[in-house]
Amino acid sequence: MSTLTGKTGVIVGIANKRSLAWAIASAAHGQGAELVLTYQNARLKENVEELAATLSPVPRLVPCDVSVDAEIAALAEAVDAAHGGLDFLVHGAAFAPREALDAPFVQTGREAFRIALDVSAYSLVALANATAPLMARRGGGSVLTLTYLGAERVFPNYNVMGVAKAALEASVRYLASDLGPQAIRVNAISAGPVKTLAAAGVSGFSSILQIYRDRAPLRRNIDTSEVADAAVFLLGPAGRGITGEVLMVDAGYHVMGM
Ligand code: NAP
Repeated sequence: MSTLTGKTGVIVGIANKRSLAWAIASAAHGQGAELVLTYQNARLKENVEELAATLSPVPRLVPCDVSVDAEIAALAEAVDAAHGGLDFLVHGAAFAPREALDAPFVQTGREAFRIALDVSAYSLVALANATAPLMARRGGGSVLTLTYLGAERVFPNYNVMGVAKAALEASVRYLASDLGPQAIRVNAISAGPVKTLAAAGVSGFSSILQIYRDRAPLRRNIDTSEVADAAVFLLGPAGRGITGEVLMVDAGYHVMGM
């Protein structure tokens, strides 16, 4: 039997085949999970539909813009109606307005700050709150989000996204404390840089990739399958004693002083 056989999971944050959330979806599906995939809007629906069609059984697709409370509530209702509960949630959505990733951080506008924190950090809280009752009904569950070392250290142009990731990581700890008594675990994976659509928004991203190759203990970048394998570990029974944790999957880069 595979690790996630009999488990139902919701995966938020697939834009295309390079998305970390898609790698996690493929790996979770490979381990026997039944999936619900969300897409942000009609523009992305087709991409997610094409990817979903490569899995069997084909996962259910539900629209969910994570900045809209009604869409989060509708997602939870749709999952409840179709599956009568939920075992895990993967949160891979993040966004900051372009100008906030171009101008110096000190010039971040109030609205750009609000949007980045809303989409990239608050959405985890809202999704966890909406889906926790479904997980509690299954006797517990696992929530996983994706973060980056820019939460703790300064990376050029990462700017407000670093602040959003700091809020996201703190949210992981507070959610872990709130939901732990219901046997719901909440963790994050802090991934090394990977060239995805979101990453393309950070100018100078290629030089970040090169610095990791030069200095990380493993002297290479990571690939999405490594994040996905760690995700399956945290989502499944092997991770049962772990909550409130940020697991670094970055070829060891974070341990280096320089
Ligand atoms: P990605 O493929 O672009 O995924 C980001 C996803 O967030 C996209 O599907 C995006 O949709 C979605 N999103 C943005 N606003 C949304 C909203 N309002 N409602 C619902 N979804 C929304 O990039 P990724 O690199 O895989 O990112 C996944 C997660 O990993 C993010 O949290 C990111 O910060 C994190 N991460 C990435 C790296 C890296 O180097 N790539 C490293 C560490 C952590 P749109 O395309 O429509 O905006």
